[in-house]
Amino acid sequence: EQRGRPCPLEPQNLSLPRRDDKRAGVHLAMEPAATDPTGDALAAAAAASSLVFLGTGCSGALPDARCLIQPSAPPCTVCSQALSLPPDRNPNYRCNTSLLIDYCHDNDTHKYILIAVGKTFREQVLRWFVHHKVPSVDSIILTHDHADAVLGLVDVWVVQSSNHRNDVDDQVAVFLTQFTMDSVAARFPYFVKRELEEGDETARLDWTIIESDVNKPFVSSGLEFVPLPV
Ligand SMILES: [Zn+2]
Repeated sequence: EQRGRPCPLEPQNLSLPRRDDKRAGVHLAMEPAATDPTGDALAAAAAASSLVFLGTGCSGALPDARCLIQPSAPPCTVCSQALSLPPDRNPNYRCNTSLLIDYCHDNDTHKYILIAVGKTFREQVLRWFVHHKVPSVDSIILTHDHADAVLGLVDVWVVQSSNHRNDVDDQVAVFLTQFTMDSVAARFPYFVKRELEEGDETARLDWTIIESDVNKPFVSSGLEFVPLPV
């Protein structure tokens, strides 16, 4: 998070609901939106689905580079320890807040839904996509327009499936508010223009405007989400 306006839709305010509570947090209905599966089907989907916390850090991420290049006396214990272990075993090494939902349904079909694509996105892909064998992303939810939530868009083309890369009709869906859309369009006009040139290493994205309203849920890769304005 950066100074200034509060973040309208921070991922940490999105939580998994209890199965019987359709209003709590993001409603991760473990079902294709059009069907009404049995409890067994819900349990099976829930068992095979998972959440990957790609990042739980602040906008500047941890370690804070200033603590390492301009160390205080005594040095900051958090940041000096952050380089003493590999990142995957070090809770003090944190990238920008971001969540990946691995939604498994219909005979092991996996859909990957990415929430927030911040400054450290490339590092998160190298660390966690490789570790969890995540091949690509199917849809993206942008919670707000700050640098720690959208600047990784420049690297999203890397996590598009080859279909998405080559087929204009098979774009990655991106859900965001109009406010965030305007901000992203101003910073990344080349993502918004429809005509891409041959060999363009630019993500093919299909933008969908959502309302910052708990009464306006939306469906992303088969899961229903409820926005929680903050
Ligand atoms: Zn520090």
